[in-house]
Amino acid sequence: MKITTVFLDRDGVLNVDKPDYILRVEDVHLYKDVATAIKQLSDAGIRIIVISNQAGIAKRLLNVETAEAIFEKVIHDAESDGGHISDYYYCPHKDEDACVCRKPRTGLFEQAVREYGLLLEETVFVGDGYGDAGAAHRLGIPFYLVDQGRGFETRKKCDAGGQLYIWVDNLQDAVQQILKTNKGNNK
Ligand SMILES: [Mg+2]
Ligand SMILES: [Zn+2]
Repeated sequence: MKITTVFLDRDGVLNVDKPDYILRVEDVHLYKDVATAIKQLSDAGIRIIVISNQAGIAKRLLNVETAEAIFEKVIHDAESDGGHISDYYYCPHKDEDACVCRKPRTGLFEQAVREYGLLLEETVFVGDGYGDAGAAHRLGIPFYLVDQGRGFETRKKCDAGGQLYIWVDNLQDAVQQILKTNKGNNK
């Protein structure tokens, strides 16, 4: 089975996260080599979809217009080497809202699966948060945990909770492993 779609968390994977949310377009700073990694996935014919929790919206720290402008900026910068991100989905709620879309809940993944006609068995998820690990676990898809953002503390929680992950330095490292996996499954 080949990997045909990569789900990506945003903050802590594509761009440097902040403890008090990314609230302004000027706060967007991509990690090094992200645009190269996106280009390599695209060149391999792999679809890229961003799935992000944005509780700052529910907490009224930013509005939907600003949140979407920030997504557009992240995607614009991530595509600057010629790669392509197909779409982004975000949860605007906070924990207490008990919505179906806030990771570790899987509503946004299921929406993407429906809208793009994806096979879950052909997807993986790259993230830095414990909610990301939980979502991947619930979906039964491989989880690449980056050593960035909240990655290190998430690793400790996963080890304590028995959640599986593939430990990688960053997105570029995850992409190398994904491409290698696909080469090995060249049927
Ligand atoms: Mg994150
Ligand atoms: Zn939600």
